[in-house]
Amino acid sequence: MTILAIDIGGTAIKVGKISISGKLISFQEYENDGTKGGPVLIERLCEIIDGQKEYSAIGVSTAGQVDSKSGTIIFANDNIPNYTGTQLKKILEERYKVPVAVENDVNAAALGERYFGAGRSYQNFICLTYGTGIGGAIIINSNVYKGLNGVAGEFGHILVHPNGLPCKCGKAGCYESYASTTALLKRAKEVDMSFYNGKIVFQHYEEGYLPIQEIVHDWINEVAIGITSLVHIFNPPAIIIGGGIMEQRNLVDKIEKQVQSMIMSSFAEVKILQAALGNKAGLFGAASLHLSNIITQ
Ligand SMILES: [Zn+2]
Repeated sequence: MTILAIDIGGTAIKVGKISISGKLISFQEYENDGTKGGPVLIERLCEIIDGQKEYSAIGVSTAGQVDSKSGTIIFANDNIPNYTGTQLKKILEERYKVPVAVENDVNAAALGERYFGAGRSYQNFICLTYGTGIGGAIIINSNVYKGLNGVAGEFGHILVHPNGLPCKCGKAGCYESYASTTALLKRAKEVDMSFYNGKIVFQHYEEGYLPIQEIVHDWINEVAIGITSLVHIFNPPAIIIGGGIMEQRNLVDKIEKQVQSMIMSSFAEVKILQAALGNKAGLFGAASLHLSNIITQ
């Protein structure tokens, strides 16, 4: 059985064929201008799928909030206007005559890690992705816990500093205003405008440049504050952290050390793990929507 896995983002559409054992058989990435809107995106998507052969199901990971039962986009922001309401599963099943499953990209990435990545030995864990904001997912018994409206796991908006920095959600003091990659870079750029990406910041950090060391230490502390609360709420065996910035192994170790110093001793067994699938996690997660019932748990 081969799954056609698709990952729809605001700026790119990734397509891969993935075997039942989790082998990536083929991979292509296409540019996508999400700002042209949902209908144009669907046209582009169908053009891409039309060129694909030999698959028995389609799994889709997409930006936006998804009702995964009906495979409908229930909310998408202005990165893809007029995408809200798109009945993605219905459209693709009618056109391609194969089973289609659709999931939100953050949840799909967590499922990808569950079945093919850092979470392979865990049925329960918490996933966090650090980037422009902070995305999160709760995996319980190998499924995504969704909450009442399907939006559980918005860890980026945990209140960590009452009356603190404004957040793009309209509130203030949210976790992502302090612990996202954007938050780190914002402070680094105040020191020097040339510190505009994580790589440059960590180069100066490793070299012992004091103003940056202070900023990075503060940031690691902020990252650990959010994780500490999650450890105390869920008592999970593992927390998987991803996003480009977490690809630095020693950073993950430092965060783990900081978290260990902040949690109660009865929670100390928790492991802080580096996400393993990078920017292909959503693609593997999309495939797992069909594989999860088949794979031995
Ligand atoms: Zn917020």
